[in-house]
Amino acid sequence: MEERIIDLLRRLAQKISELKPKIDEMIEGSIIFEETKVPARQGEFEGKTYSYLPNGGLVKEIRISVCDECGRKGEELDICSKCGKKVCINCSLIFRNKIYCKECMSQIIPLEKEDYEVLKAIYEGNESLIKISRVTKINKEKVREIRRNLLELGLIEKKGVLFFATYELTELGEEALETYSKIYDRGSVSWNKELSPYFPLPWF
Ligand SMILES: [Zn+2]
Ligand SMILES: [Zn+2]
Repeated sequence: MEERIIDLLRRLAQKISELKPKIDEMIEGSIIFEETKVPARQGEFEGKTYSYLPNGGLVKEIRISVCDECGRKGEELDICSKCGKKVCINCSLIFRNKIYCKECMSQIIPLEKEDYEVLKAIYEGNESLIKISRVTKINKEKVREIRRNLLELGLIEKKGVLFFATYELTELGEEALETYSKIYDRGSVSWNKELSPYFPLPWF
């Protein structure tokens, strides 16, 4: 009886010594636990994923929520109501009570920086091309082209006839101005009409 137990223990010790190098090899050759931090993909939020490497190592991937527009880590991210992108407070645009990323907003109303400047100048009461050009520092021909474009977009409308025609913002134009002031004006828009030393010449 005693002999059998001793024999069993001996064989067990033998087995362990055979396994020991294999265990050591596994520990040395594999990454038992690795932690990586990666930015969350577009539309994806914070979370963790575990996966095994071919050598048996375990990898923990921590996804950090970042703005899909600027890449900054944000505590509070909104979702573009059109494409589902995550947008931070600086990158989100609000139009008709909905949140959009810049790209989706530009599909609704395309407004480049210069278009915005002209729209704003018209809103501020600069009637003539020369005045708009002076305020915006955009050349007169370009202002004329932009104004035509704003008219086509329905952001401004013509009031009066011929030389006495003036341009005013439509309701849509005011909404667009407000939405875009966030990215083009850092939201700090002064709506005061500028007093100009020039006498406005409506035919320019
Ligand atoms: Zn952002
Ligand atoms: Zn979008």
